[in-house]
Amino acid sequence: MKKKDIILLGTVFLIALILLGIGLMIKKAPAGDGSGLYVCIYRDGKQFGIYPLNEDNTLQLGSETEGRNSLVIKNRSAYVSEADCPGQDCIHMGRIDESGEEIICLPHKLVIRIEGGEPSMDVTVR
Ligand SMILES: [Zn+2]
Repeated sequence: MKKKDIILLGTVFLIALILLGIGLMIKKAPAGDGSGLYVCIYRDGKQFGIYPLNEDNTLQLGSETEGRNSLVIKNRSAYVSEADCPGQDCIHMGRIDESGEEIICLPHKLVIRIEGGEPSMDVTVR
């Protein structure tokens, strides 16, 4: 093997190593993956639960007297899958996935709001 070939081989190896490094860095970099956003749950104006939006979860909220809602956190969005309230408005509100968005269940005095991250301009301060 000539000296030139060794240098060439070394250069190729180095470039491969750098590319691998860049690839790993890109994989690790958080890019809008919903981290920093939380699903905050309020009943009667009082917060009683907070869950990260980027972790899939199914929550059974409430009781026989308060009313029941099933909250699903999936694929960085949250929605009510089941409820025993009349009207089922909270189910019809569908998915929320941005800071400041809310699902409200009036009969159960339940508010599910996404907080954190970059707040939207139309966030209402209470
Ligand atoms: Zn409801």
